[in-house]
Amino acid sequence: MKAHDGMYIDGAWRPAAGRDTIAVVNPADEQAIAEVPAGGAEDIDAAVRAARAALPAWAATAPAERAARIAALRDVLVARKDEIAETVTAELGAPLPFSQAVHAGVPILVAGSYAGLAASYAFEEKVGNSTVYAEPVGVVGAITPWNYPLHQIVAKVAPALAAGCTIVLKPAEDTPLTAQLFAEAVHEAGVPAGVFNLVTGLGPVAGQALAEHEGVDLVSFTGSTAVGRKIGATAGAAVKRVALELGGKSANVILPSADLAKAVGVGVANVMGNSGQTCSAWTRMLVHASQYDEAVALAAEAAAKYGDRIGPLVNAKQHARVRGYIERGVAEGARLVAGGPEAPREQGYFVSPTVFADVTPEMTVAQEEIFGPVVSLIRYEDEDDALRIANGTVYGLAGAVWAGDEAEAVAFARRMDTGQVDINGGRFNPLAPFGGYKQSGVGRELGSHGLAEYLQTKSLQF
Ligand code: NAP
Ligand code: MG
Repeated sequence: MKAHDGMYIDGAWRPAAGRDTIAVVNPADEQAIAEVPAGGAEDIDAAVRAARAALPAWAATAPAERAARIAALRDVLVARKDEIAETVTAELGAPLPFSQAVHAGVPILVAGSYAGLAASYAFEEKVGNSTVYAEPVGVVGAITPWNYPLHQIVAKVAPALAAGCTIVLKPAEDTPLTAQLFAEAVHEAGVPAGVFNLVTGLGPVAGQALAEHEGVDLVSFTGSTAVGRKIGATAGAAVKRVALELGGKSANVILPSADLAKAVGVGVANVMGNSGQTCSAWTRMLVHASQYDEAVALAAEAAAKYGDRIGPLVNAKQHARVRGYIERGVAEGARLVAGGPEAPREQGYFVSPTVFADVTPEMTVAQEEIFGPVVSLIRYEDEDDALRIANGTVYGLAGAVWAGDEAEAVAFARRMDTGQVDINGGRFNPLAPFGGYKQSGVGRELGSHGLAEYLQTKSLQF
């Protein structure tokens, strides 16, 4: 795999300040495939200075010009989509068809949506005797995880560019090659020097230096709740804007009138896609007592059929963590009906698609984010019971409701404490705001709501 041995700062690849490196490992065969520099505070400082210097000119460009640059970026992502998919497959382990459709495909949709929004958004509004201007927040520090390595970068960088902000990105240590490829694409798209900067490195070193830097006006973070809480505290102390996209433990609520086979089948696929490493995955399946045994049989069958369509987990640590959760589920009395903690292959960080039955709402596997291919089937007695269970975690990122009648599903969804709900398997919409209630986060990404995160208002009175 191609790797740069420098940082992308101020429009060029520059040597890192130090000599530390990060080895990139292919999780499917555990082989090292590349090395990238591990940046530190000095690299972050150089990148933030470049972003600050580029801010006045970029903030002053006409929205149509910013839209043209984002459209050009989208076009480069389209032209290089095979290379993107191969890179994500090499460092994340996702099967190639999934990388092509989702890891390469979704960022193209999102970049395209922001090319449109940059051109059409009302950056100026009349309110009574005032004119209200939506101005860029300034320099953005973006910290992203590895599970959707390009999507999570584009979901921050595209709206930040549309708003007129400049950016320093610290991507996950496990997936830096995708981030380097993205930096190449930004360069090819003709985005001016300093507007986008990339520093690869470790979270507690480069990530923390970015979150703490005085020259950063907004920290946008996606990842674990533990790190998010820390970043929120740092930002709060500095009176700095912050956006946090954190974990989830979403419920898939199957009401008795639903098409049970479809709801269970789509529900299992939703969890197994990306090997369960999806923050919005519906990892708790809620089924009415009268249909419970049938749902368990359908889920076990769907999981067992998964075969080679499931990739490995991202690294050895996640592999051990997820297998530990499965052992914990067994120890707490849940019943394994598919998969289990044993590694299905000798090489690679694989976990078998796993289904737990007889899960009760307070069990660890029903409360904590496992981030692996594990779905828990929970029995409910009536609708109020289902709602109590659905809302009974610290998270509120996503969810699903299935019913024979759409209105019945909508009525239930409106009572859920969560940011996004798919009704009867609803399709992904790149313009719909995405983000969490409760401890799943602060702020929204995607669409016009995602753009507003990068804007602040100035009112002039007449
Ligand atoms: P993480 O540590 O929160 O990583 C997210 C990003 O934050 C990475 O770029 C990481 O760098 C960086 N980071 C880590 N510590 C930091 C610090 N002290 N200051 C600033 N930045 C820091 O998540 P993870 O270790 O990759 O995964 C752990 C768990 O988080 C998973 O099991 C899962 O439950 C959850 N998770 C959730 C999402 C989501 O989309 N909501 C995504 C990924 C993970 P490094 O890459 O160097 O660690
Ligand atoms: Mg980490």
